[in-house]
Order: sequence, then structure tokens, then C-alpha cells
Amino acid sequence: MNARDDADWAGPGEAFATLGNETRVAILRELWVAAREGPVPFSELRERVGTRDSGQFNYHLTKLCDRFVRKTDEGYTLRAAGGMVVAAVLAGQYEAGGFDEPVSTGDPCPDCGGDVVLTYADERATIGCQDCDYAVASAGVPPGVFEDRDHADAPVLFDRWLRTRVAGVAGGFCMACQGPTAASLSPAAADGSRAAKFAEAADVHVQYECGRCGEIVLTTVPEALVHEPAVVAFYHEHGLDIGATPSWRLPWLTATPAVVSEDPMRVSVTVTVGDDALSLVVDEALDVVAVDGDATVTDAPATD
Ligand SMILES: [Zn+2]
Ligand SMILES: [Zn+2]
Repeated sequence: MNARDDADWAGPGEAFATLGNETRVAILRELWVAAREGPVPFSELRERVGTRDSGQFNYHLTKLCDRFVRKTDEGYTLRAAGGMVVAAVLAGQYEAGGFDEPVSTGDPCPDCGGDVVLTYADERATIGCQDCDYAVASAGVPPGVFEDRDHADAPVLFDRWLRTRVAGVAGGFCMACQGPTAASLSPAAADGSRAAKFAEAADVHVQYECGRCGEIVLTTVPEALVHEPAVVAFYHEHGLDIGATPSWRLPWLTATPAVVSEDPMRVSVTVTVGDDALSLVVDEALDVVAVDGDATVTDAPATD
């Protein structure tokens, strides 16, 4: 049960109806543009929007007040909801997203040596091998992510955008509605959704669920540990910045995590850099309960 099920939808419906007018959308846009200048007085706002009839303008402005616009003694400013409306318009103003050709990452597939590429079609981006099943990540992405950027950077941009998104939900905030999210380890996803495709391969996956809108973000256990201090430090000790290392250069990211215990739930992930390995064990809430920095990649004795 979440807010999506029991919300009073008459309220939101009314909110969308409020926005169904060009003058009102123009008012939000002008307040957005003027945001750094502080509150905008009535007459200045009317001039910016270009409405001659003061009474007509006042009618539309009043409709926006409280929910989208705040009225102060100095003038009018955008409320958070008003800013989100403008941001949504900006994010969605581009043509439906897709690239004609895959964009190469410039790196070879660890499984077959083929080209690891980013494909983008119907606003879904996927990074994987062009020649085999090797897959790194897949997610729906608004076209604005790639707009005004170097096309060749698309794989890196998508990877960074996705990690930022996972960091957001892992930090406790829904990227869709700003509601509170909770992390949990779940058995293999069986809902067949495309988002679950990558998690399905593993015995367990990580699920971040929003308590307000019910939005679910799925990721793999290794991917959820990329920002873990022990992992960041492990890379740092090897002179590497994991934040600047694209996911397709982290071979352990696509490895299947080991379920070491089911009750209580314990899952082990082994992070590798060259011949060195760091083993982490997480519990059901994805908290790290054990770290073993002496783990070895193989049973062969370590060499200096
Ligand atoms: Zn391959
Ligand atoms: Zn939400």
C-alpha cells in the first residue's frame, strides 16, 4: 500500500487542469527565468508574459497561486511544484529519443572481444556487446540527457546518469516524486519487465521502492555497492577513482553475487582490481555487515 493507491486524485486532476492554459504556463516560465532576481512584481510579470488585459492576467495568476506560485509582499515567486512543472517541460521538449547507429564505448567485450556499444531506441538506452549477450546496463532515459552533449560521450553520459539515479534512490529519495525510498534485497525478479532483465540473471537483486508513488528501481547487488566507502577506498588505494571509471570497465559489476545465507539473508560480492580482491557481505537492507580485504581472486598464492 502506498500513496498512489489511496491518494485523493481529485486534487492532482485539478492541478493539471490549472495548467491547461498558455498564459499560465508562460507565467511559470517567466518566474523560472527570473528566479535569481527574486520576487517579480505584478506589473513586471504581466509585461514579461505579454498579456495586455490586467484583469485577465490577474485571473490566471490567481489560479496558479498557492499550489504553483507564491505571492509575497515584494511580488511573485515559483513554488517547488511550479519549478517541477517547468523542469518537466524542459526535460520533455526534445524529439522522442533514439540514435540511428550504436555508439561505441571504445572498449572490447570481456567475453568475446567484440565492440561494447550503447544503443538508444524508444528512449531506452542499453550498454552491451554488439556480438554476444554481454550486457552492462539498460534503462529508460529522457532524451534531454544526451542533448547539447558530444554524441561520442553518450555511453559515458548514460552510465553516469544511471549511477546518479541509483545514488538518488539509494540516498532515500524517489527521482519521480521525491518521496522516501526503501532498499531491500529481493529474490530473482519474475515480473518479466525489461527493467528486471539484468537483475533476473542473478539469484538476488536490489529493489528500491518509493513509499509515496510506488516507483520501483531495480539494480544488481554489485551495482548498489559502487558508492560503498570500502569499495571507493579499495579503488583509491590502487590509484583509481571508481567514480570516473565507466561500468563496463568494472568486470565484477556483472558477476553474479553469492547468496551465503538465506536466513538471515546474506549476500557476498567480490570486488576486483587486477589480482586484488575485496569481499563484502550485505544483509537484507543492503547494509554491509562484513568486509574482507584479504580475499583473493584465485587460490593461487599472491605474488609481489
Ligand atoms: Zn561480447
Ligand atoms: Zn515516488
